[in-house]
Amino acid sequence: MSNENLIVVTGAGGFIGGNLVAALRGQDLKRIRAVDIKPFEEWYQRFGDVENLSLDLNSKENCATAAKNACDIYNLAANMGGMGFIEHNKALCMLSVLITTQMLQAAVKYGVNRYFFASSACVYNGDKQKTFEAPSLKEEDAYPALAEDGYGWEKLFSERMCRHFREDFRLYTRVARFHNVYGPWGTWDGGREKAPAAICRKVIAAKVSGKHEIEIWGSGEQTRSFMYTDDCIKGTQLIMDSEIPEPINLGSSEAVSINQLVDFVEEIAGIKLKRNYNLSAPKGVNGRNSDNTLIKKYLKWEPNIPLRTGLEKTYAWIYDQYMARQRGDSVVEQKSSSAR
Ligand code: NAD
Repeated sequence: MSNENLIVVTGAGGFIGGNLVAALRGQDLKRIRAVDIKPFEEWYQRFGDVENLSLDLNSKENCATAAKNACDIYNLAANMGGMGFIEHNKALCMLSVLITTQMLQAAVKYGVNRYFFASSACVYNGDKQKTFEAPSLKEEDAYPALAEDGYGWEKLFSERMCRHFREDFRLYTRVARFHNVYGPWGTWDGGREKAPAAICRKVIAAKVSGKHEIEIWGSGEQTRSFMYTDDCIKGTQLIMDSEIPEPINLGSSEAVSINQLVDFVEEIAGIKLKRNYNLSAPKGVNGRNSDNTLIKKYLKWEPNIPLRTGLEKTYAWIYDQYMARQRGDSVVEQKSSSAR
């Protein structure tokens, strides 16, 4: 195999990686290698016309196998989840540095053309996110560094490695700071899910069971912005193709409180629930929004799918998963995807 057009996606058994592979398949003349640590039957999406590898990328040898002959690498593999996961698994989150380090080294070893790293809004300084008024974070607000403990520090360090691999080894690196991505084909239960998926699932459970109550983590006043997966995939490719060497925000600037998020999902479900606030649950920073000045300047574009629109699609997908599981049938989740 030559490295003319082989695209490698790590974390391809997960949410964003799976959706990226699905999008790349629709584009011309791309050969794709999809890599994830999970056994194939646990991938959200798996395609027969793609080279699928189940490999632990904590290992240097496996990173070499993944990177060999690649033209582009999209490194999306990480051991991560929503607040409930990252607050209780800081060491595991930081160990993802092994994946990033070894994938960067393998990229240099095999002379890959381009390398993309998925960073996160969790790199931002916590002191700048204390108010509930959704402070818009500019790229420079990551410094002085006071990232989310564990997960955020790993992302900040890995961003920095991408920069130095670019400067010292001439590796073409691009880095996007994703802000809360949501949509179909992602984690919706089990402890790693993020707020939009968790709220959709809880509203569905309340509707199906007839117990019209919902537990909300924190006061519900925390603010965030949420980016629909299609915008994330489009932005990821635009940033990979761009002249933007420094880490850049990739997020929606439509900030809402968690209470507003619940309002939307209730509206979609056609139900009103009694809200029980769990003030001792993990809730993250008080407020965060994506400042999109820089992405608009460079790309003349920003993520723009309205939250209400994206939530409708996400709710419908999770509803199908939920009902399939109720029937004791997990088919919708993975197997149908290999035939898509
Ligand atoms: P995900 O958990 O659905 O996907 C990550 C995948 O990486 C998983 O399938 C997992 O099995 C795989 N992985 C973990 N350890 C691995 C290893 N040692 N070797 C090979 N594969 C391994 O998460 P996602 O939401 O798709 O996130 C993709 C990337 O985007 C991650 O780097 C994440 O940190 C970043 N990100 C996501 C969000 C978001 O809101 N989803 C926000 C900011 C950043």
